[in-house]
Amino acid sequence: MKKLLLLIPTNSYKTGFFLEAAERLGVEVVVGSNRRQILEKYSGGRTVTLNFRNLDKGVDQIVACSKQQPLSAIIATDEETALLAVKASEALSLPHNSIASIYATRDKSRLREILALAGLPSPSFRLFPIDGDPKTFASDVRYPVVLKPLFLSASRGVIRANHQTGFVEAFNRIVKILSDPELYLPGDNAGKFILVEDFIPGIEVALEGLLVDGTLHPLALFDKPDPLDGPFFEETLYVTPSRLPFALQKDIAASTQKAVNAIGLREGPVHAELRVNDKGPWVIEIAARSIGGLCSRTLHFGTGLSLEEVILQHALGLPVESMEREPGAAGVMMIPIPRRGVLREVKGKSRAEQVPGVEEVNIMIRAGQKVVPLPEGHRYLGFIFALGERPEEVEKALRKAHQHLEFAIEPSA
Ligand code: ADP
Ligand code: CA
Repeated sequence: MKKLLLLIPTNSYKTGFFLEAAERLGVEVVVGSNRRQILEKYSGGRTVTLNFRNLDKGVDQIVACSKQQPLSAIIATDEETALLAVKASEALSLPHNSIASIYATRDKSRLREILALAGLPSPSFRLFPIDGDPKTFASDVRYPVVLKPLFLSASRGVIRANHQTGFVEAFNRIVKILSDPELYLPGDNAGKFILVEDFIPGIEVALEGLLVDGTLHPLALFDKPDPLDGPFFEETLYVTPSRLPFALQKDIAASTQKAVNAIGLREGPVHAELRVNDKGPWVIEIAARSIGGLCSRTLHFGTGLSLEEVILQHALGLPVESMEREPGAAGVMMIPIPRRGVLREVKGKSRAEQVPGVEEVNIMIRAGQKVVPLPEGHRYLGFIFALGERPEEVEKALRKAHQHLEFAIEPSA
């Protein structure tokens, strides 16, 4: 029997969900990761250590692995491993998205170019080198703008500036974040530029979809009921189904489909973020992966299929049992880090879990660990999950549960 190779980067929260899905589907999995600690956790199954920082080496290792145990599909669970997954798939003649399409989802300036070329609504943008003079750049843009690194995620380093002073501060702050060489692949130029684009006012939504032969099947549309107006863009609440008018929801899906066509993505999961204002939907970002963190836990299809089961069935060329989300509403709060320091204690977890509708509260950072808020940080304190009949109820339950939580954070020296 052929096996599925799952590429798992450090810090991926999704591993368990994918392994459970594989087990339920009766598919054998090989877990590929760059860190031995991660592999040891899954010592029950087969594991392989891969070089994630040198793609050529990584591909060779995967090809060697496939000689011992033939692979039927390679799945990247997160953006970090997406390129390796398609390059290795190409080497093994397995079905995959084009390498160019994956580049477009990794490089935010490339995405902007592609959307603009296709005539799709997209903010105007400029690229500035990190070793240039931010004061000069600051006098050359129209405010408000958003500054961001080309390749990070979870809103890390994404900062709004309303005037020249704010621009210079934001620029310098991003340069500092980018000074960490661990963040990018050797030889990658992505860390040498900062993208500056018009601030698009409006509300924000996230569309979770599955591409099958180029056609986007929307799996869930999430409202983000907390305003995202900056200066930092902390994601907190995701609630589905959307409360937006049905016609607008169709527009959002149609805009996503057009963006996906322009990029050239054809198969597999997509996570799209769009802003919506009186000019209609604007694609902010398209990622060729499923929703981040533990958030997929909010989604079930048909008679209880997980998002990961849907993704695996599609990747293995099996019929997808259902793409119909279960009835009712669901939501998650990604618990933001309120300030920098060392987490000492989390109080109120059981009270939060007792709020009607709340399913679970997961605290992901242990006492004694450092916590770093946005824009430098890239983790959440944890996740709160809720279910209900209507999205309003779910939103209320999530907010109430969050109010019960108290985080003792000691300022670090
Ligand atoms: P990341 O990959 O880190 O999530 P994004 O480009 O998606 O980076 O930006 C993160 C968030 O910042 C978005 O979800 C949105 O709320 C906000 N944002 C980014 N670009 C813009 C923009 N041009 N106008 C308004 N808000 C933006
Ligand atoms: Ca994003």
